[in-house]
Amino acid sequence: MDIVFEPKLIISKFILTGFPMEQIYGEYETRRKATKAALDYRWDNLMLCIQDAYGHLYSFMISPDRDGYFITVWDITGTRQIWKGAVVLDENGYMSNEQIDEVMDRLRNFSDNRVKCSGCDEWTDVRDNSRRFYASIYCEKCWEKRYKKKAEKENYG
Ligand SMILES: [Zn+2]
Repeated sequence: MDIVFEPKLIISKFILTGFPMEQIYGEYETRRKATKAALDYRWDNLMLCIQDAYGHLYSFMISPDRDGYFITVWDITGTRQIWKGAVVLDENGYMSNEQIDEVMDRLRNFSDNRVKCSGCDEWTDVRDNSRRFYASIYCEKCWEKRYKKKAEKENYG
């Protein structure tokens, strides 16, 4: 019987708007280590999630970057990428409000089955699973022009 145990650390938009990115990342690291030790959890990469205004959860990763931080957001299963980018920090080290709004807008659209194409940044329907390459989703045009071949090569090469 395949019953798995998956602890999650959950943040909301209000954590992003309310605290500097360095503090958020530090807090995540502290809690990740404490949770791992307390639960004897075997994976190092404890799942961080962001919750939208409707209670939906999305996988969320903050990585320290050469010049700051990089964020990637996927659906809860981690199979479809919704947003990624280098964090734009304001003068106090907070993620910029414009960027937070952009991320929240992507989440809202994703729950309405729309996602930006990883090739051209145009909106596309997320329900067509045939235009996926790893966690990236492509519009019809980009898929036919470029990524279909790549995916076929990867699968059968
Ligand atoms: Zn495209």
